[in-house]
Formats: sequence, structure tokens, C-alpha cells
Amino acid sequence: MERFYTIQGEGFHQGKAAYFIRLAGCTVGCTWCDVKESWDAEDHELISIQKLKQDLKHCKAEIVVVTGGEPTMYNLSALTEMIASLGKRCHIETSGAFPITGNWDWICLSPKKFKKALPENLAICNELKVIIAHKNDFRFAQKFESQVASSSILYLQPEWSTAEELMPEIISFVKDNPKYRISLQIHKYLNVP
Ligand code: SF4
Repeated sequence: MERFYTIQGEGFHQGKAAYFIRLAGCTVGCTWCDVKESWDAEDHELISIQKLKQDLKHCKAEIVVVTGGEPTMYNLSALTEMIASLGKRCHIETSGAFPITGNWDWICLSPKKFKKALPENLAICNELKVIIAHKNDFRFAQKFESQVASSSILYLQPEWSTAEELMPEIISFVKDNPKYRISLQIHKYLNVP
């Protein structure tokens, strides 16, 4: 759908320069999705991996983040091979709803209520990022604690449109449950894509 060099705004790698590849196509259907234009893959031009490689070759990015849409709807092996062949790190952002293909240096799994994350994906994610859009999302987040590896980093991230309202509760929850961290979408504060 789009690709751009920017600053990773969320989660563990927040603040680092990263090249984003946003794949079109998503059947998860989050009501608060802020990239609904990504849902229909047919609305977007197909770009070959060779063309992506040419663009990436000239980019200083050390990290390439593959996001969506829902990237795991596709077999991503050839894409990660290409990224790794340039000596860059492969990161993915996924709801975990479909099997994860390809070789990843970092898996950020953000489970959604609208389509369940697969247990095998939860077991291998490096970071679990739960979006807090309602008060009952804290309980939703806690359900995954036993399903992720002990090394997986737990994040709560306020949904952008309700962030101001829910932030006091998120702060209070993290103070009571210090294994969680807060992730903010700093790219939106920085006004970058
Ligand atoms: Fe939007 Fe991501 Fe949810 Fe798909 S999984 S609907 S792209 S937020």
C-alpha cells in the first residue's frame, strides 16, 4: 500500500529510524482501525520485491518494519529473504491472526478481539502490544500473559481517539502491574507518518 522511511513511533523500538512497508489487505476488521484504506488489497498497486530492493538499497534504514493491513495474510518468506540480503533487520507488526511466515528479527504482536491471535504466534512474539480502547481491554490484555514467552515485553497502548480519556487508567494499571509498559504513538506527536 505504501512505503516510507520514518521514525518507529511505537513499542520497544520507538524512536529509531525505520523503513516501513505497509502491505494492503486485512480481514481483521478493528472498529477503530486508523488505516481502513488498507483493507482492500485490490485498491493498491502491486510492487515487486525487486523494486522494493532497489529502493531499500539506497536507504540508510537498519530496520525494516513490515506492517499492514495484516501482513501475515501472505507468505512473507521472499520478502524477509530480500530484506536480510541487504543486511537489514526484519521486524513485523501483526495481529497474529494467520500463520507467520518468513524469518523475523522482531515480532510485535498486537492481538485483536475481532480475530483471534494464533497460540503459536503468541508463543514466539518478542513484544505483545495491546491497544486499550475500553476499560475492559485491561482484562483482555491479561488473558495473554500466560500465552507469551516470559521474555516477551508487555505493552499497553492507548487507542489514539480515546487516549486522553483512558490515560489515567492506563497509568494507574501499569503502576499496579509493573510488568507492563506504556507505548505511545510518538510518530503522531512528531507529526511523521
Ligand atoms: Fe486495522 Fe490492523 Fe485491525 Fe487490520 S488488524 S483492522 S489493519 S488495526
